[in-house]
Amino acid sequence: MSNLDNLYREIIMEHYKNPRNKGLIDDANYQSVRIKNPSCGDDITMQTLIEDGIIKDCRQVATGCSISVASASVLSEIMIGKKIEDALKLADNFLNMVSNKGYDETVDLEEAMVFNGVKQFPARIKCASIAWVAFKDTLK
Ligand code: ZN
Repeated sequence: MSNLDNLYREIIMEHYKNPRNKGLIDDANYQSVRIKNPSCGDDITMQTLIEDGIIKDCRQVATGCSISVASASVLSEIMIGKKIEDALKLADNFLNMVSNKGYDETVDLEEAMVFNGVKQFPARIKCASIAWVAFKDTLK
C-alpha cells in the first residue's frame, strides 16, 4: 500500500470516529433524505438548509461501515457554503470517481479525494455513494 493510501485511510478513520455536523435539526426549512444500504447495514440521513441558492447548513446522521459514515461526514464539511450548482457538480464528479467512470479532474473534490481508492472495491462503491445520492435528493 502506498503512503497516499495510508494517509487516505487515516483521514477516513478519523471522520468515522469524529463525524462532523452530526445530528439532525428539527426545522421545516431543512430538507431531509434517508437512504439505507441493506447489504452492509448502512443507514444515512442527509439534511440541507438552502438560502439564496447557497447551502447554508448540512447535517447528517450515519450508521454503518466506516466508508459510509466517513463519506457523510466529509460531504457535510465540504458542502457548507457552496452554491447549489457547484455542489451538484462536485457530487456528480464524486459519484463518477468512486464508480470508476470518467470524471472531470479539474473539479476540486477537496477532502473527498480520500475515497478515490474505493473504485478498486466494487462492493464498497455503494457505501461511499449513499450520502452523496441522499444529499443530491435534498436539493430537488
Ligand atoms: Zn457500507
